[in-house]
Amino acid sequence: MQATSVDERALAERQDEVVELLGQLLRIDTTNPPGNETKVAEFLAGWFAQHGLEGVIVGEPEHRRSFVLRLEGTRPGPTITLLAHTDVVPAEAENWAVPPFAGEVRDDWVWGRGAADIKNLVAAHAVAVRRLAASGRDFAGTVVYAATADEEEGAVAGARWLTQNRPDLVRCDYLLNEGGGEFLNLPDGRRLYELQTGEKGTAQFKLTVKGEGGHASVPLRHGNAVVDAAGLIRALHDYRPSVSLATVSPEYVELLVDDVEMRRRLLDVTSARGALEELHAGDGLLGRLLEPLYGVTFSPTIVHSSSKAVNVFPQTVELFVDCRMPAGQTEDDVRAEIDAALAGVEGDWSLEWFSVVRGNASATDGPFADAISTVLGRHVPQGCVAATHCVGFTDSNWFRVAFPDIVAYGFGPYLVEDGPTVFDRYHNVDERIHVKDVAFQALFAEELVRELLK
Ligand SMILES: [Zn+2]
Repeated sequence: MQATSVDERALAERQDEVVELLGQLLRIDTTNPPGNETKVAEFLAGWFAQHGLEGVIVGEPEHRRSFVLRLEGTRPGPTITLLAHTDVVPAEAENWAVPPFAGEVRDDWVWGRGAADIKNLVAAHAVAVRRLAASGRDFAGTVVYAATADEEEGAVAGARWLTQNRPDLVRCDYLLNEGGGEFLNLPDGRRLYELQTGEKGTAQFKLTVKGEGGHASVPLRHGNAVVDAAGLIRALHDYRPSVSLATVSPEYVELLVDDVEMRRRLLDVTSARGALEELHAGDGLLGRLLEPLYGVTFSPTIVHSSSKAVNVFPQTVELFVDCRMPAGQTEDDVRAEIDAALAGVEGDWSLEWFSVVRGNASATDGPFADAISTVLGRHVPQGCVAATHCVGFTDSNWFRVAFPDIVAYGFGPYLVEDGPTVFDRYHNVDERIHVKDVAFQALFAEELVRELLK
């Protein structure tokens, strides 16, 4: 049986428009920092105006604004916000096969920084909204289109600003955002689609390691802050945090892991750690996908020495650690894990939180999840949707904080290229998306609105 039965004519109807729009968006350099997303907001305002639709450009500071457009249906009903961010991470052009800000279409791909994260959804949602408007707004409720600044570096502008300062514009019952929709082909022929129903929190911290100082011609047996920092880094790297199943969805594990005994061990708190270690030793992909869902993670990323001279021991070394905590945990839980990881490790250190945002999640069942499965099933009969948490961070978090009753999901489904292929492109060189995938994302968003607001 074929995995997909997509309506090729419906795809073709959208493809040229969405590919052209995506190319135009990619040619506007919104590298964050500094972002300059206002240029995209202005471009989108002009694009929608050509189609007789009027939105607003809002936000601070002036060069980091977002674009929001509200479309009322012909009947009353709930509100769904289609959200995607307009900033992109930096690109080192010399390492790319094509210029990263040229918006080139080559073979069957649209190439450029942001082609898959996530100007593809900025374009796909825009085409969906334009078509919903053009076909008579025949739905019950309101569709909000939001193209927001500053997701990659923390959304001080963008979604965070909007939810705090202009909740009237973006308040909704349902939020469709980036962060899910990649698929894995399962051995039994089905396709597992990830539906992101929650996000981990961040608890990034800085350790300041004190040293003895002095002339480096006489080695220090103890008190060399560089050596002590190395010990702390190694201890954090090697530490295996306590396992929590609170944010591990059994259906996700069941769909992903076909070995019944392995599955059982992964869903039992006493055996999960050993099972994860085995997965890491094996093909690696499953271990990488699953392990961050089970607890706190520590990734040391930056080290600064106060010494500017090679012959001087530093008084201090600063060590920055990217740390993610499951939804429901707080920085106190993380602190207990840090203390456990560093117990008995040599070094005089103190801790300062660098960036702390608690994780959160939406219910995994209900009308929104049902509508997503229904629309997906129409085009991908072999597709099954499994809830999971984002191990990184998305703007859905800010929406759940501002509007506690909201159901916020990440889902921008792929049709052609599988998850392992597209995961590798995010934040990487030669970022690109298949033209049929971005066309499908436009088709899906439009049909989802019709299904949910029918
Ligand atoms: Zn993104």
